[in-house]
Amino acid sequence: MENTIVAISTAAGNGGIGIVRLSGPKSFEIINKIFIPKNKEKEIKGYSIKYGNIINPENNEIIDEVLVSYFVSPKSYTTENMCEINTHGGMTVERKILNICLKNGAELAEPGEFTKRAFLNGRIDLAQAESIIDLINSKSDKEAKESVKGLKGELSSKINEIENKITDVMVNIEVVVDYPEYDIEEITNNEALYKLQEIKKLLEELEKSFDRGKLIRDGIKTVIFGKPNAGKSSLLNAILNEDRAIVSDIEGTTRDSIEEYINIEGLSLKLIDTAGIRQTENKIEQIGVEKSKRFANEADLIIAIFDLSSDFSKEDQEIADIIKDKQAIIVLNKVDIKQDNNETEELLQKIEKPIIKVSALKKEGLNELYQKIVELFSLNNFCNGNDVVITNERHKNQIRKAKENIEKAMDSVKNNMPIDISSIPIKQALEDLGEITGKNASEDIINEIFKKFCLGK
Ligand code: GDP
Repeated sequence: MENTIVAISTAAGNGGIGIVRLSGPKSFEIINKIFIPKNKEKEIKGYSIKYGNIINPENNEIIDEVLVSYFVSPKSYTTENMCEINTHGGMTVERKILNICLKNGAELAEPGEFTKRAFLNGRIDLAQAESIIDLINSKSDKEAKESVKGLKGELSSKINEIENKITDVMVNIEVVVDYPEYDIEEITNNEALYKLQEIKKLLEELEKSFDRGKLIRDGIKTVIFGKPNAGKSSLLNAILNEDRAIVSDIEGTTRDSIEEYINIEGLSLKLIDTAGIRQTENKIEQIGVEKSKRFANEADLIIAIFDLSSDFSKEDQEIADIIKDKQAIIVLNKVDIKQDNNETEELLQKIEKPIIKVSALKKEGLNELYQKIVELFSLNNFCNGNDVVITNERHKNQIRKAKENIEKAMDSVKNNMPIDISSIPIKQALEDLGEITGKNASEDIINEIFKKFCLGK
């Protein structure tokens, strides 16, 4: 890029240190004007740090005592010459230094412009840039790990692998188009169909991994489900260790659902507390009951809570029926009042779900519950740690489009359409995938993506 950009890269507010970052051809020229290093050595070495003062060159006023890191092109975040000024922190000083840089030839960076330069200069592709945003915004350890995999380019190389396979099919087809005098169409059709089938399978696998990716990114949607007074709100409170939900012994007071995120050993759980499930005349509550049934259907995990101190009721049976075919953990609550309830336990054992006894009130048994959750999701969903997992909605949509185009091509080959017609959706599939890594993403898409970054990144 022609111009040199500057931004405050640390979060707004007072911190231990603050970083003002410069990138572009004039970075070193600007720093030479505004920075007086203690060690006057002229040579600028990459990956080196100098200690000294930032001054206002207009009046030689010392602004702050700083460390300046030097990155010499192409070995920098953006691949351009870069400097990072580590100040003592504090918005006033950071703003002052920013303004001095602006007065001495730098331009204010747009959000995400440093990363955009890394992309435009070819150091990272679009999918890697998006992984950087995901890493910054990640809510759990697992999500951060997936983002780092994306950042390292694992998704990109998977996409490249599929693109190569598609190109391979295209080459086969072009042979037929270019040398129609040879009677090789029949063989090529079968071969193309076989290869397209293989490509479709790879795309499908990637598309499916999004569901797993969603659990990592959005958290495991967990519904606490149970009849009124079973202790749903108390359990939620015990888990959250604070009084965010309404706890009351008047039946049906938890009318709206409440959402909270928690982290268990690197898994992110999105907890939803719902209104008690029961037949009711009350209009507002009816909505709550319907809603909780719907939540149960959409949940990744149901924590079904039963009251050991009360008899097994029709509502309990209804809940047992609902969770039968779902990923669920049965929680028998109020062990502090009653430790066993043979009838309830026998009836619930029939649906073959893990059973944990707790006291939500006394906060007992919660560790066993957490362990069970970790066990369920480590075994079922996260065991293929080395697989590429799609966590980004845009990537999933591009993969789906590519898959649909491959299907179109397969139909067209099956229907013995002229082979150059079949090649149209194949080419389109290549373009769909190219939009993931940014090979042929439109400027609008690129701008849209980088807008999501924060200033100074
Ligand atoms: P919800 O309607 O399912 O949300 O139930 P709540 O969490 O509001 O609890 C209903 C009543 O049961 C409240 O009076 C709670 O204090 C009480 N409760 C909840 N869990 C326990 C428990 O483990 N032991 C005892 N003794 N009481 C509990």
